[in-house]
Amino acid sequence: MNIVIFGPPGSGKGTQAGKIAERYGIPHISTGDMFRAAMDKKTELGLKIKDMMAKGILIPDEITIRLVEMRLKDADCTEGFILDGFPRTLEQAEALDEMAELGFVIVLDVPDDVVVDRIMNRRTCAKCGRSTTADEGDTCKKCGGKLVKRSDEDVETSKHRLKVYHDQTQPLIEYYKPRDVVHVVDGDRPVEEVFKDIIKVLGE
Ligand code: AMP
Repeated sequence: MNIVIFGPPGSGKGTQAGKIAERYGIPHISTGDMFRAAMDKKTELGLKIKDMMAKGILIPDEITIRLVEMRLKDADCTEGFILDGFPRTLEQAEALDEMAELGFVIVLDVPDDVVVDRIMNRRTCAKCGRSTTADEGDTCKKCGGKLVKRSDEDVETSKHRLKVYHDQTQPLIEYYKPRDVVHVVDGDRPVEEVFKDIIKVLGE
């Protein structure tokens, strides 16, 4: 069960990928989360990518591909995986083809104005990484961590990330279409409704 989930920033990819991982018992691999973890730990990689992340610029393919290549070799990926935020460029998609055969490409379809509003309203737990909305307040209801705004989630950076998605990542949907693995799901609905449709695609 090798799955890729696509969608603009703020489309709910991370949330749906987490639910898919839990239901089907496969690892949720988010390159954004891996990069943020490297920044938090101030590793060599973390320090190198900090400015690019803050500006919403893509991390160079060479670095990103190596990171995913190593992760997919881990034992927990043998039965499948859900990739969230990778591939984002044609070079990454071609590299992924060398690493694994994809069974499903799920595309979350959400209009631009909706995702910008969602991003502005999004908060992330600094402790457990859970994504939630501003109405939850300052404290994560799951782990008690502090809820913060991500450094790349101001209006300008969000619009830039959206442009990067349309310019570089969205065209990959066409790249996968000839293989009959692409499934577009309306993501502009409550989380559980979107997830029900994803289950219909992936099977009970
Ligand atoms: P995300 O959490 O998926 O929205 O990613 C946050 C940021 O991490 C992006 O704006 C990029 O700077 C970086 N990033 C995540 N995944 C990739 C990728 N596949 N290729 C390049 N940069 C990435």
